[in-house]
Formats: sequence, structure tokens, C-alpha cells
Amino acid sequence: MFDLPAEWPRWAPPPATLDALCLALAAALKRPIQSQDFADLSRDESGAGSFAPHVAVFPESTAEVAAVMRIASQYSAPVTPRGAGSGKSGGALPVHGGILMAMTEMRRLVQIARADHYAIVEPGVLLGDFQRAVLAEERCFPPDPASADFCTVGGAVAENAAGPRAFKYGTTKDYVLGMTAVLASGEVLELGRRTQKGVAGYDLAALLCGSEGTLAVITELTLGLVPRPLGVETALFCFKDVRAAASAVVRIVDAAIHPATLELLDPAALDSVRADVAGMIDPAARACLIVELEGDASLAAIERAAAVARADACIIAADDAQRRRIWDVRKRVSIALKQAYAHKVSEDIVVPPSAVPQMIDAVQAIAATEGLAAATYGHAGDGNLHTNYLWNSETDHARVDRALAATYRAAVAFHGTITGEHGVGLVKREYLGLEQAPPLIALQRRVKATFDPQGILNPGKMFPSERNAVIAAQAGGQHA
Ligand SMILES: Cc1cc2nc3c(=O)[nH]c(=O)nc-3n(C[C@H](O)[C@H](O)[C@H](O)COP(=O)(O)OP(=O)(O)OC[C@H]3O[C@@H](n4cnc5c(N)ncnc54)[C@H](O)[C@@H]3O)c2cc1C
Repeated sequence: MFDLPAEWPRWAPPPATLDALCLALAAALKRPIQSQDFADLSRDESGAGSFAPHVAVFPESTAEVAAVMRIASQYSAPVTPRGAGSGKSGGALPVHGGILMAMTEMRRLVQIARADHYAIVEPGVLLGDFQRAVLAEERCFPPDPASADFCTVGGAVAENAAGPRAFKYGTTKDYVLGMTAVLASGEVLELGRRTQKGVAGYDLAALLCGSEGTLAVITELTLGLVPRPLGVETALFCFKDVRAAASAVVRIVDAAIHPATLELLDPAALDSVRADVAGMIDPAARACLIVELEGDASLAAIERAAAVARADACIIAADDAQRRRIWDVRKRVSIALKQAYAHKVSEDIVVPPSAVPQMIDAVQAIAATEGLAAATYGHAGDGNLHTNYLWNSETDHARVDRALAATYRAAVAFHGTITGEHGVGLVKREYLGLEQAPPLIALQRRVKATFDPQGILNPGKMFPSERNAVIAAQAGGQHA
């Protein structure tokens, strides 16, 4: 949605230098490299545009990643790591060209250490495949982004991805024990450990979680596992309004019930799927919660949750088929909204759970001001809301940009954040200043420079351009 900032031009080496770079890469990898037909590698799921690299490499080992980085350093070539390209913030887009480093050939599941509750995995393994492999060993890797079946483990770590179960289990970073990482210089580092505990030195493995490919390339991960949960109970609670649903969330948590997921749909989200899930939603309902509990005492707990929620209507799944129908209510929202409107942008702001109703009201007010439609749903337990703006005309983009800026400002005003899952990447970098003060951004730039003095790793991401002051001022940001 944003123009490429002028201070980050496309890398433009002389042709002879580019040829020399390509020869050096092919020699290091001992196979031809890809220097055209980048259509699939130029885009991601952010919708932020198409940016072709000059060359793409598909390393198969840590040693090959290190060799590529040494060559990139020598030529001062930008390097953009890429997993499956499912990211929604433009992190994997090679906005300045250079080398696109696709990690999809590093896809070995090295070890599941069942007794010690960890697994060692290469970054290109699909997250869903990894989850299923550990489940077969009676272990569980809880982070569950909706993209699990097509995103990579490395991409999930680089974005610190999460999903509905983060409310109980935390996010991806809570399961990263250690990793092998390659710096921009080509230096290989072993970070972290294989034990659940460990406090020696700075936690640099944690720093790399959510670093969006800007600090190092992750080439192997040691991930913590939990026992496979015994038993699951799922319920759909319907309410006459969003406030009643949000209050129910607070009461459920107050009652020391700890669901794995607490998903909320606002009236617009609920209306979008009403016809698709006939019979599931009470006709009078204007909001609903999907509550799932895991563990051997979960039936008693979900009945207690139903009592404290004071829902106007309640369905507790009697079997797996009904459980799937309940989850259909949530899973179909995005599809239904896409079918109903030509354009849709889905945000991932977070606010404290008690501010969820006010945030939903704020989104509706912003949408009304800009003449857009809006629907909000998401992980009410931890206040992570997917606020969707919906429109049909190409000419509405300026309104959408204003609506997004106002939404981020509202989230920050509620002591929340502009992104809880998708990362800053390209599309939110101009808004980081709404949430973080200049000294904090400056410190992070210094951290980046320590890891990557030439600034070749995923340049143009995460940090605001000089335009930030203007945009933050327009949006009324705290730190403009
Ligand atoms: C339909 C859909 C649903 C989604 N649902 C969720 C959700 O529920 N929760 C959620 O959190 N996200 C969600 N996402 C966003 C996205 O899937 C996740 O962020 C995912 O983790 C990205 O993984 P990827 O392999 O596609 O990474 P990419 O998009 O390829 O890359 C993402 C970032 O990671 C960096 N990167 C990738 N691999 C490495 C590596 N090995 N070393 C260093 N940096 C690396 C890239 O440079 C980039 O900055 C969804 C996306 C879609 C399209």
C-alpha cells in the first residue's frame, strides 16, 4: 500500500559486477543459480507489491548459507531471507533487489528428543508437517498460525508467529531454545541451548525471534515441546452484544479457567458467516466466543466456563464433527469477507483484553468516518484482534491508509501494539514511531548495525524511513 521510500533505491551494480557475483555464487554452491523468472519469489501475502531480486539461491546447508553471506558481504549485495512467502507484512520482499535467499531446501527434521522435550529442525520444514511429526511422538509444538500448513518453521520464528492457542501456550519465541544462525559476514553462531532452562549470557536466540530476517539467517532450530494434551472440549457461546462477550472473557479468566483459545467475532464478522453455518448461531446473537479447553479435566472446566460466561446461547461440541462445525464459524469469516468485497486488509493489533469492546467500537467509528466497512474477530483472550477494513473501489486506498493509521493510533492509545503476529516488515515500518520513542528505535538500529555493519541483511524492513515523522504527525502519534 506504500510507495517504496526514495532513500532505498534498487541495488544497481555495474553489469560486470553482477556477473562476477553470480559466478561466485554458482562456484560456491557448485550448481547453477537462478537469475531470471522470479515471479513466485517477488511477492508475498502482504499485497505490498512485486519486487524482483537480481538472483535467487536455494542453500541446502549452513555452510552454503555462510558461503552466500561471505560473497554478499564482499559485493555489498542486499540479501533477503525467504521462507514460504506467506508473511503479511512484506518481510520476504527483496525491495532493493540483490540476493533472494530461499530457505525451502533446508527441510530436514533432524531429531525429536522425546524424553528431553525438544526437537531439532531445519528452517525450511513446513510448520504443519513439524507439528504432525511431534504429535506422532506424543509431543506438541503449540504455536498454531492459521498458515501452519504452508509457512516454514524458520519464517514462523523470524516473525514470532502465533495463533489462537497463544493465549494459553504463548508464542513461537517461547519454544525457541536455541538455533544456528549465520551473520551478514558469513560467521556461523550457535545460540541458546537444548535445555528448558538456561540464563548464561544475553538471550540472543530470543532476540532473533521476530527479527524478520534483519539480523541473521537462521539455519537450524532447537524447539521446545510440551506433552500432547489429553482431551479437548470446544464450545460456542452466543451473546446479544460484543460487550457481553468481552465481559465473559474477563469472567472466564477471573474464574481461573485457562482455555487454550478464546476467539471472538463481532457483529459484522458474525453476520458474514451466518448463512454459511446455518443452525449454529442463535438468530438473536450479535457476537460470539469460541472457547476450547485442553487437558484431562476439560469437560468440567468448559461447563464451568459456560456457567460464568452467562451466554444467551451455548453449544458444547458432542463430537469431532460438531467441533469442526464450531471452528467453521471462525475459519469461514476471512473467506466470506473476501467473497463479499473486492478488497480486504486484515490487521493484527493487540490491546489489553479489557479494552477489546472499546477497540471494536473505535474500528467501527473509524470505518464510518472513512466510508469503509469493517469487521473484527480474533484472539480475545490475549486482546489480539484481526480488524478488517473492506472496500470495493480502487480509489478508496487513501481512505484505507487513513483508517489504518487511525487504528494503530487507537491501539497504542489503549496501551496496545500495532502488530501482535504479522510483524512490521515493509508495510508497518512507517508506523513503528507511533509505538516506540526515537531513542528506542535508535538503539535497535545500533543493534542491527552490530549484527550487520554493512546493512545488507533484509534492508528496508522494520525501521521507519525519514517520512516517519510526517506520517506519525498526521496520525497524531505519541512519538511524532
Ligand atoms: C492465510 C494466512 C494466515 C496467516 N495466519 C497467521 C496466524 O494465524 N498467525 C501468525 O502469526 N501469522 C499468520 N500469517 C502470517 C505468516 O504466515 C506467518 O508470519 C509465517 O510465520 C511466515 O512464514 P513464511 O515461511 O511464509 O515466511 P516468509 O513470509 O517467507 O518470511 C517472513 C519473514 O521471515 C524472514 N525469514 C524467513 N525465513 C528465515 C530464516 N530462515 N532466517 C531468517 N529470516 C527468515 C523473512 O526475511 C521475512 O522477513 C498468515 C498468513 C496467511 C497468508
